[in-house]
Amino acid sequence: MIRKILIANRGEIAVRIVRACAEMGIRSVAVFAEADRYGLHVKKADEAYSLGPDTVAGYLNAHRLVNLAVATGCDALHPGYGFLSENPELAEICARRGIRFIGPDAEVIRMMGDKTRARDTMRAAGIPVTPGSEGNVESIEDAVAIAADIGYPVMLKATSGGGGRGIRRCDSEADLRRQYDRVISEAEKAFGRAEVFLEKYIANPRHIEVQILADHHGNVIHLFERDCSIQRRHQKLIEIAPSPQLTDEQRAILGDLAVRAAEACGYTNAGTVEFLMDGGDNFYFMEMNTRLQVEHPVTEAITGIDIVQEQIRIASGLKLTFTQEQVQKRGYAMEFRINAEDPKNDFLPSFGKISRYFAPGGPGVRTDGAIYTGYEIPPFYDSMCAKLIVWSLTWDGLLDRANRALRDIGVFGVKTTIPYHLEILRNAEFQAGRFDTGFVEAHPELTAYSVRRSTRDTAAAVAAALAANMGL
Ligand code: ADP
Ligand code: ADP
Ligand code: MG
Repeated sequence: MIRKILIANRGEIAVRIVRACAEMGIRSVAVFAEADRYGLHVKKADEAYSLGPDTVAGYLNAHRLVNLAVATGCDALHPGYGFLSENPELAEICARRGIRFIGPDAEVIRMMGDKTRARDTMRAAGIPVTPGSEGNVESIEDAVAIAADIGYPVMLKATSGGGGRGIRRCDSEADLRRQYDRVISEAEKAFGRAEVFLEKYIANPRHIEVQILADHHGNVIHLFERDCSIQRRHQKLIEIAPSPQLTDEQRAILGDLAVRAAEACGYTNAGTVEFLMDGGDNFYFMEMNTRLQVEHPVTEAITGIDIVQEQIRIASGLKLTFTQEQVQKRGYAMEFRINAEDPKNDFLPSFGKISRYFAPGGPGVRTDGAIYTGYEIPPFYDSMCAKLIVWSLTWDGLLDRANRALRDIGVFGVKTTIPYHLEILRNAEFQAGRFDTGFVEAHPELTAYSVRRSTRDTAAAVAAALAANMGL
């Protein structure tokens, strides 16, 4: 069994991993750039070591991180998400130095990190894949020819892209010609590789992803799906489990597809298979994320399974202690990404000091955050500073609870996305559980956002609930 883990990350996910370690009696080791000296993960971990003055270089230096893991007597390393979490070299260096990497094998990371190789693998395994180019496109003329074949609109994507970057929808040949160089240079800058490929643009796309767990003994199971269709510029804002847009029959089909996808690439540890669902309810494999995901807590909320603890057990070589049939879900859960951004000013990052922070509470509420009163959010990193996760037995109960919890939490001193989430909750289509990835763009009040008061009649709901409780 793993006894001591180096957490090669920062922010809320590092805190999340410390918490899993603490419950399992595992010693946790944090690392920090000097800009993160006052970070919550540094305070919460059992030990913490400086990576020096560079703001991000330390978190991206695989050799240095593994050296530190060895020097501090760790037997494992957890990469979190972002940074080096999908870097096959980190997994290789860990393996060479006798440190267990808490994630899949380097070769699987490499294969799935290349979106065209991932698509090829899935196609060969009989998994439906978004129609598109076979392999990467070689030139703009090649792209134009393939796009004519697929039919517009098409998605032009960076082969090693992630985090919603390096993706452009092209509605015509002129559009494709305009965007081509831009996507390539974005891919080069953000991911260090210039390869791009084409996919058919899926109409009315719903983003539905499945959480997978796979041990080293051949057991692969899924923990149901998450609906991440509520996005802005291809970045997730709100995630929901289970999807209110699936029937139980579709859910079972999708779960099977995801398990087959994981088996097809020899997957181990926790992973996520992302699918798009079109207007005709067809599923297409989009990509696989070979790491813990930001939105994993909504799955934990409906299944009661601690995914980080399972990751650690799997990496220790233990068998999964439950079968597919034993995984049950209960109720609905929703996660709100609370970013230090100004939704009234084009989501401009709003870094600075948290003058006051009130954690929300009450039934069915969880916060995974990296903030506290007096904390100064450094300007060098991701603007997501907390996640609010709410759970309820019913969909309607969840909407009420989400509304309450978003008013219950208090983050002062910086602008946040909280009021924007409240605005989304006011939307009737959202409340009805019907939305695709174009939801935000389709609603002028969300694109040209302004604050208005709630239209949901919460006072009447409270009175009705009280009356029901008192047997009136
Ligand atoms: P998730 O897929 O877990 O929902 P995101 O797609 O939002 O999460 O990515 C999580 C974090 O990882 C973000 O900070 C994002 O910028 C970063 N990230 C994701 N993929 C990459 C990548 N290929 N290269 C660099 N950073 C990435
Ligand atoms: P990333 O690696 O950045 O997460 P993805 O390939 O997962 O990139 O795509 C991110 C988002 O872009 C999806 O959740 C979806 O909203 C949109 N998208 C991607 N591919 C398509 C497509 N073929 N048709 C329609 N929307 C797409
Ligand atoms: Mg994705």
